Amino acid sequence: MKSHDLVIVGAGLAGMRAAVEAVEANIDVAIITKIHPLRSHSCAAQGGVNAAIDPNDSWEVHAYDTVKGSDYIGDEDAIELMTREAPEAILEMDRMGCPFSRLEQGEIAQRPFGGASFDRTCYAADRTGQVMLHTLWEQLVKAKVPVYQECHVLKLVTDSENHVAGVVALDIATGMVFGVRGKAVLMGTGGYGRVFISNTNATTNTGDGMALALRAGAPLADMEFVQFHPTGLLTSGILVTEGARGEGGYLVDKEGNRFMEKYAPSKKELASRDVVSRAEQTEIMEGRGDNGGIFLDLRHLGAEKILERLPQIRQLTIDLEGVDPIHAPIPVRPTAHYSMGGIRTDAYGASPLKGLYAAGEAACVSVHGANRLGGNSLLDATVFGKITGKAASDYVKSRPEPNFPDEAVAEVREHIREIKMHEDFGLRPVELHARMASAMNSFCGVFRTPEGLEQISTQKDGRRQRYKQIHIDDKSNAFNMDLLRAVELENLIDLAECIVRGAIARTESRGAHSRTDFPKRDDAQWRKHSLFSWNRDQGVVELSYEDVRTIGKESYIPKERVY
Ligand SMILES: Cc1cc2nc3c(=O)[nH]c(=O)nc-3n(C[C@H](O)[C@H](O)[C@H](O)COP(=O)(O)OP(=O)(O)OC[C@H]3O[C@@H](n4cnc5c(N)ncnc54)[C@H](O)[C@@H]3O)c2cc1C
Repeated sequence: MKSHDLVIVGAGLAGMRAAVEAVEANIDVAIITKIHPLRSHSCAAQGGVNAAIDPNDSWEVHAYDTVKGSDYIGDEDAIELMTREAPEAILEMDRMGCPFSRLEQGEIAQRPFGGASFDRTCYAADRTGQVMLHTLWEQLVKAKVPVYQECHVLKLVTDSENHVAGVVALDIATGMVFGVRGKAVLMGTGGYGRVFISNTNATTNTGDGMALALRAGAPLADMEFVQFHPTGLLTSGILVTEGARGEGGYLVDKEGNRFMEKYAPSKKELASRDVVSRAEQTEIMEGRGDNGGIFLDLRHLGAEKILERLPQIRQLTIDLEGVDPIHAPIPVRPTAHYSMGGIRTDAYGASPLKGLYAAGEAACVSVHGANRLGGNSLLDATVFGKITGKAASDYVKSRPEPNFPDEAVAEVREHIREIKMHEDFGLRPVELHARMASAMNSFCGVFRTPEGLEQISTQKDGRRQRYKQIHIDDKSNAFNMDLLRAVELENLIDLAECIVRGAIARTESRGAHSRTDFPKRDDAQWRKHSLFSWNRDQGVVELSYEDVRTIGKESYIPKERVY
């Protein structure tokens, strides 16, 4: 049996930042990741990371923007913690050698981003996540942190006292299933964009950590809040960064008319994402779009600016959409992008399940509430990666070696054997996934209608039934991607159920959750977090609620959100 004091699942920005902190604290830490660390989705982040590093800006204004952006359901203590720590967290990355773009005099360059009242998004051209991830990876290589690469975690293990005892993982190259004992486990497993068919996410973003935590007894929070990014490429869903609008890009209808002024008179294209996505969807539904999409026009920025600031965007658009943004508008549409919900934690990353910590997109701290601001997620992963890494390191120092139950590994082996044995009369994982994810886009997307929610809710039992008969063609042990798609799908099914349950129960519209039958925000009844827990005996998800953590600042009192 492998054994470490702290086991971090996930080598994205959150997991790696946490590991750096554990190394500082002299903790025996290891990372397990289902893909090579540098392929984590953080690497795809383009536009930038927010921090009030300009003397004319302040963390208080950043905090206010974030509270407002969250539609008044973010936890105010955690938001203040994140925005206060932000400048130091970014300067720390800078000192580690992160090559941010610079101004003439050498200061870190910052660009405007949606929902922000100051140009506070630090960036490295349109490859910010990539440079941040590489910077942290260098630190881990230097510190020789053990990394179990291409090992897929399939179970979060608890002991008889309901304390976390480690994980069970599958070595993808060999098919070997093995246990890793840990006094604490930190989930940095990212989001669940693949619940939706049209999304900006990597194929690996299947919310594994959230589903494993749920089944092990930790609550998830705010799962109904799913961010739709206004500018996914029309055909592939691949992201065009908000930085493209930050640099001055316009959204236009099929006649070339700008329309954002109708919806957000002051901020226009740079209103927060929920507002812009709803505006686009309305234009599309009212017939002013084209082929299910709308357009992002960058032509007026000129070739030089596009080539300097948005080189990757130009290439992606040429390769995937057949359009050169220097010469033509880019067809885009709102596309599932970010999970505001996740494993419920306190402001220091601890979940109610003893020994389980979470950071980054897998966690719901909650700093993003009902709607995340662009540039606040790389920040969340960096700041709370650090804070949670420290909290988990402190925790393991005083804990004895846990008792890892032997049967945990056997159970996972048996589960895999069962999936491989199913007779050939069920659906393939990709087919069942496509059905579910298409339905999620249609019925639980930007706008949620009572009929759509009803329809998707009634499909739930049939889907679980079909999953039980799922068929995989590949029965081998080495690199069995068929098997991995099947176990990931199991997680997506659980998470989709939470999203739909939360969306049906929340009879209001707030942030990214927009109900056509309840178009207004209802603070009296709904200024609270949804909590999802797994009832082991009945095998169902249960819903309860928790108050938002407020700190009594007058400027944070909810008011109408206009941009
Ligand atoms: C295209 C795109 C662009 C974005 N641009 C920006 C931006 O400009 N600014 C911004 O602030 N935010 C942006 N975001 C959001 C932001 O990038 C992510 O929220 C953030 O990087 C998530 O980091 P993370 O460390 O939580 O997870 P990830 O980077 O997603 O890493 C997850 C890790 O978990 C591992 N893992 C998952 N499941 C398992 C398992 N079962 N077993 C073992 N390992 C597992 C994976 O291998 C991976 O290493 C963007 C997101 C996308 C999709």
